[in-house]
Amino acid sequence: MANNKETENLQQTDFSKWYLQAIQQGDLMDYGPARGTMIFKPDGFGLWESYKDAFNEVLKKEGIRNAYFPMLIPKHFFEKEADHVEGFAPELPWVTQAGEEVLEEPLALRPTSETLFGNAMSDWINSYRDLPMELNQWANVFRWEKRTLPFIRTSEFLWQEGHTAHATEEEARERTMKMLHYYTELVKEVFAMPVYEGQKTPSERFAGAVDTFSIEAMTKDTKAIQAGTSHYLGQNFAKAFDIKFLNEENQHTYVHTTSWGSSTRLIGAMIMMHGDEQGLVLPPRIAGTQVALIPVGNLKKNPQVLEKLQEIKAELTAKGFRVNLDDTNNSAGYKFNEAEVRGVPLRIEFGPRDMENNQVMIKMRDLDEKEAISLDEDLAEIIDARFDLMHQRLYDKAVAFRAENEHYDIDTMEQLTAHLEAAEANGERPGWILAGWDGTDESEAAIKEATGFTSRNIPFNPPMEKTVDLYSGKPAKYTVWYARAY
Ligand code: AMP
Repeated sequence: MANNKETENLQQTDFSKWYLQAIQQGDLMDYGPARGTMIFKPDGFGLWESYKDAFNEVLKKEGIRNAYFPMLIPKHFFEKEADHVEGFAPELPWVTQAGEEVLEEPLALRPTSETLFGNAMSDWINSYRDLPMELNQWANVFRWEKRTLPFIRTSEFLWQEGHTAHATEEEARERTMKMLHYYTELVKEVFAMPVYEGQKTPSERFAGAVDTFSIEAMTKDTKAIQAGTSHYLGQNFAKAFDIKFLNEENQHTYVHTTSWGSSTRLIGAMIMMHGDEQGLVLPPRIAGTQVALIPVGNLKKNPQVLEKLQEIKAELTAKGFRVNLDDTNNSAGYKFNEAEVRGVPLRIEFGPRDMENNQVMIKMRDLDEKEAISLDEDLAEIIDARFDLMHQRLYDKAVAFRAENEHYDIDTMEQLTAHLEAAEANGERPGWILAGWDGTDESEAAIKEATGFTSRNIPFNPPMEKTVDLYSGKPAKYTVWYARAY
């Protein structure tokens, strides 16, 4: 009995087991041989490629060009920026030997490339006419993380990292915020994900940054995922790498730099936000397979069924849809299930009776009911419209789920403890807490120690302003989201 219940409600009872099952049954990934690494199978990599296409459009619009820098970083580069080296040292993998030869200087596998871009920019930037210098690269990076989880936190991951240099602080800050807003817009348009934009507290700031801003997403187990970050780096890297320009008054001046990154973690966040008990639910704009065509009934007796489906496939493919026609010998029921666990947004069922009625049955992945569509109608147009509706439904559902799991009425540690105990006793999720913060590291550290909740960000537009610190009871300087995080 208990076992049955467990498999029925895996998302509720064991979310991480549900997640690992969903991504494997959905054929997105496999594990790599080295600790914390993963293989992106074509359906998983396809999701990343879709994001890449959308992000490259943004870059084009902004006049930011792609470049590619080496993966190996000489050790002394890291030592130039003290905070940067301190922050990343525990996670750096090193190349120290080639064949039998011990290298003169160890080389790090890049965890991020501020140092390499900084070094090159110091050569490339001479006068104000060279500014702004704005570059992006698509790359793999390495961080030897202690806890790993496919897509969400891996030892090697794929990302884009943007690096820009500007004449003034104002311009650099403008770029920092603009990219943060683009992340918000893109995850909404591509992954149907709502996020909170805000500023990180100093304890969560990027190593070497003046200010770090993030977008934070809520998963179905009500944890938080940092889904993208944008940093204003001030003149820290400019001073470390001597990036100076001759300004219009003929003075040598340090530039102001920014960096911003988003990774394959976005895929994990999207799965954890939209997936259901059956497995993946993929937003239609990025799904590797958008339409599953499934024949119903005895194909030997009714060869016209398959012929008609082939015709539909050709028509939809020509219109740009990614379509899979499942003509294997498995039963229709098996094929329906297969399309479900893979998260295919729309499936078309078609059998002899539909043929007689001149119709197909369509079923959206996120809805229970099926719908009959006459073959006299423009199928491609209907699918387009259904996809837009599904995208909006997924987004709205995630917004509603988030609202249900936000708590605004917890202002003391006693209230937080009582809330967590009640949630635990009732088998409910703890959610996110909007609370006041007095601006001290001590409050954050004490809350983390007692509850595992960490500050996620200081949202730009909090649902309400808080006036007292959750831990100390002192006047709050900021309103902060606290949550358990991935
Ligand atoms: P950062 O350079 O630390 O600001 O990281 C940029 C973004 O990369 C973060 O906002 C995360 O979304 C993502 N990220 C950081 N570490 C990992 C990791 N180990 N695996 C996957 N994504 C990561």
